[in-house]
Amino acid sequence: MDEAISKVLDEGQYILGNEIFELEEQLKNYVGVSHACVTSSGTDALLISLMALGIGLGDEVITTSFTWISTVEVIKRVGAKPVLVDIDPHTLVLDLDQVEKAISSKTKAIIPVSLYGQIADMDRLDQISKEFGITIIEDGAQSFGSSQRGKKSGSLSKIGCTSFFPAKPLGCYGDGGAVFTSDDELAEKIKAIRIHGAITRGCHTYVGINGRMDTIQAAVLLVKLKHFDEELLLRQQVAQNYYDRLREDFKLQTVLPYNTSVYAQFIIRVADRDNCLKELQNKGIPTAIHYKTCVFEHPAYADLKVNTDNFQHALKASHEVLGLPMHPFLKKEEQDYICEMVKESALAPLL
Ligand SMILES: *Cc1c(COP(=O)(O)O)cnc(C)c1O
Repeated sequence: MDEAISKVLDEGQYILGNEIFELEEQLKNYVGVSHACVTSSGTDALLISLMALGIGLGDEVITTSFTWISTVEVIKRVGAKPVLVDIDPHTLVLDLDQVEKAISSKTKAIIPVSLYGQIADMDRLDQISKEFGITIIEDGAQSFGSSQRGKKSGSLSKIGCTSFFPAKPLGCYGDGGAVFTSDDELAEKIKAIRIHGAITRGCHTYVGINGRMDTIQAAVLLVKLKHFDEELLLRQQVAQNYYDRLREDFKLQTVLPYNTSVYAQFIIRVADRDNCLKELQNKGIPTAIHYKTCVFEHPAYADLKVNTDNFQHALKASHEVLGLPMHPFLKKEEQDYICEMVKESALAPLL
């Protein structure tokens, strides 16, 4: 890693250095698409995608109510209207029946979020896309490396976006993200928008943004990508052990048989979460909550004026989900200890 970073420092190509193009080459092969465009963050990857599709004022974009704020933020930033739907209570990704009901003549795109690493049913979304002429953009910020029916996250829709934020399954040492597509024309536009809309230097064809990844981050990711599949396997082994030990006592995220997950988060559901959190903290076990609130509960999105009766599953999840430690190097004894402590903390009050 030190060598890879030093090389960038020696060469001095901090912006759009060779490592950027090398990384794009490797990422597109890994994901199985014709084009990868690395960006300054996952949020910018989503923003650039919406801009490249020309989505803006008067348009609607359907997405989930239970996600990181970026997914919805970018829709508003381009001037379009986010149309939120509830989640499926088992898979925790957006409910596709609700998506179909939410489609209007203004719907231009659907952004399914591959929550905790699980991809929504892309075959069904593909049918919806064809029937209604709506573009699907996968928010795969949590699912780089996950797959569905043998195809990788990022390759299952017109556009796929991911994030390399340090806490994601493949993290860099700062902010980073990527857009994936196999559409040549769209790829050219995406790459241009990333550098202020310029296709050739000095001529700005589109209104763009400064959305580039730093060369140093690309150098870091090139090193980490070599070990990624091995780490992915280890994460999946941790998850399997958690499932084996916890599935009898807790409601866990159902991963559908045609999906594999990278387990960006491994969550359990607990009714008395505050108490369980405190107990686990006392026992020295770190936890995380993704997410305490649904998108529409934030002040910036109050204008969406949703009827909360229609979001019962998302609201319930936001009150119950609790993320356990998850990384490739969690030892078997540690996993077992965590499971014991979780059972003690969450189940004790009921005894
Ligand atoms: C992390 C995340 C993003 C944003 O990625 P950044 O790289 O932090 O900008 C978008 N959507 C989801 C679902 C995420 O988890």
